[in-house]
Amino acid sequence: MRYVFLTGANRGLGLEFARQLLERGDWVFATCRHPERAEALRALQQRFPQRLHVAALDVSDEQAIARAATEVAAQTERLDVLINNAGVLYRDEHLGNLRQSQLMHAFAVNAVGPLLLTQALLPLLQKGQRPVVFNLSTQMGSLTRKTYGGYYSYSASKAALNMFGRALAADLRSDGVIVVLVHPGWVRTDMGGAQATLDPPTSVAGMLALLERLKPEDSGRFLTWEGKEHPW
Ligand code: NDP
Repeated sequence: MRYVFLTGANRGLGLEFARQLLERGDWVFATCRHPERAEALRALQQRFPQRLHVAALDVSDEQAIARAATEVAAQTERLDVLINNAGVLYRDEHLGNLRQSQLMHAFAVNAVGPLLLTQALLPLLQKGQRPVVFNLSTQMGSLTRKTYGGYYSYSASKAALNMFGRALAADLRSDGVIVVLVHPGWVRTDMGGAQATLDPPTSVAGMLALLERLKPEDSGRFLTWEGKEHPW
């Protein structure tokens, strides 16, 4: 059984991560902004009352990160996996209507939140079994692939997440904590939209298979959901 901390667990890929992790026997501390409204997650709790803990966490709120870290430490002595899944993409953003508040918020959710959460959970991760910090990045965060305009806050904040992941991988190598950046594919969620090519079960099954295969030498890599190298 793995002890897993998950963000953005109420819908999309996060909900599917929770479902598949629970079905394969793992213990999941599933966080979301509004647990009281997270109906699908609550339905999972009926099925897995012993192994699913639901807690509030807005990853852009530093104090909420500290509270969630305290809360999980009261439930488990170790964490084996942190899945930084929560993310935000502002579709209406284009050159001409860029605003500081929206740009900064995307950085807070997509990059700074995952970094601070990793820092807050480090004492538990350091006690984990082959611990992994699994960051949901995206091909849109790739500098090499950025040959189109727009998506300023999303692309740049995910590129920042990638850089934070590289620094964390180097800092945590001696602790044996593996840190990876993973592109989940183009997936049919609220964010991915109906035209996306993959369904959430396929993407998440691929990412969990990748999680199983990760080795210390994979730390700091940018990979696709199938485990292929992604260009930076
Ligand atoms: P969705 O938009 O379907 O879900 C986003 C999740 O993030 C929701 O649970 C949402 O919660 C949560 N979230 C947003 N802001 C915050 C916050 N401040 N604090 C905590 N949770 C928050 O997206 P996906 O499931 O598709 O995406 C999951 C991850 O995968 C993201 O990081 C995304 O960037 C990445 N990704 C997705 C792709 C795709 O094609 N779908 C492609 C590439 C990357 P709430 O319901 O409260 O808003």
